[in-house]
Amino acid sequence: MNHSYRVLLYYMYVPIADPEAFASDHLNFCNDLGLKGRILVAAEGINGTVSGTIEQTEKYMQTMKADSRFADMVFKVDEAELHAFKKMHVRYREELVTLRLEDDVNPLETTGKYLKPSEFYEAMQDPKTIVIDARNDYEYDLGHFRGAIKPEITNFRELPDWIKENRDKFEGKKILTYCTGGIRCEKFSGWLVKEGFEDVSQLHGGIVTYGKDPEVQGKLWDGQCYVFDERISVPVNQTEHVIVGKDHFTGEPCERYVNCGNPECNKKIICTEENEHIYLRGCTHECRVHPRNRYVEEHNLSEEQVKDRLSLLGKELEKKEQEVLS
Ligand SMILES: [Zn+2]
Repeated sequence: MNHSYRVLLYYMYVPIADPEAFASDHLNFCNDLGLKGRILVAAEGINGTVSGTIEQTEKYMQTMKADSRFADMVFKVDEAELHAFKKMHVRYREELVTLRLEDDVNPLETTGKYLKPSEFYEAMQDPKTIVIDARNDYEYDLGHFRGAIKPEITNFRELPDWIKENRDKFEGKKILTYCTGGIRCEKFSGWLVKEGFEDVSQLHGGIVTYGKDPEVQGKLWDGQCYVFDERISVPVNQTEHVIVGKDHFTGEPCERYVNCGNPECNKKIICTEENEHIYLRGCTHECRVHPRNRYVEEHNLSEEQVKDRLSLLGKELEKKEQEVLS
């Protein structure tokens, strides 16, 4: 593989004065460098993923570290063959991660204990420990730490309410939280501490750091790690690969994500290439027959062809049902 590109993942909670002006200057700076990616800027800090050549990303890291606010920034660096984004965005936001808490958490004041990968690996195996995945359900579905709890939420901001409803499950336990790069856990673990949970720790640097750690080598991670760029997923466990992803239609082991063909639905579904064709990339019958189904448009299928495919699918499903019943 030719690795002339890099993907940088980073964040820092640090006060940024006039974050809107910072964001617009920073966009010019990134464009001048030739980077692509997505950066969020708030009064509370910065969170970004960018891609570029080795020279471009090197220049970016040097310039950032020369700014006293970002001198301690930790960059997670992945090698890549190409850019991981099509465009460069720098956006101002109220919050770096959307929790919309009534009483916001400042991770610089309140947050869970930081665990290094080796400490997290040890703590995970303590029987008094529970591990909470602080990500969205579709991220969990592609890969997670073995035995980790999947909160029944589709969006990060629903997490506090879900914890409150399930409080009895966590009371008196040692709580570990983790997320992709660590930024969501800074707030989430801080919120848990504020809620009165006594023993709260977070995986410092997130899954991405854990997967690169020479000591733990990603052990006890199953599946892949979902990432928010064109790569969609990256490997974590260097010692074994257990597939936990399941095809949306058939449940067979699968690690391939597509977006539902119905642009109004756009739901992320795990599905094999074969099933994508059979089910016209629609997560439900309604999405399959949606007048603007992108699969149908991309493959130039006529109305007649769509009907044929769907009737074939109907017959298949009927056959399967009969097999189950008989
Ligand atoms: Zn759909």
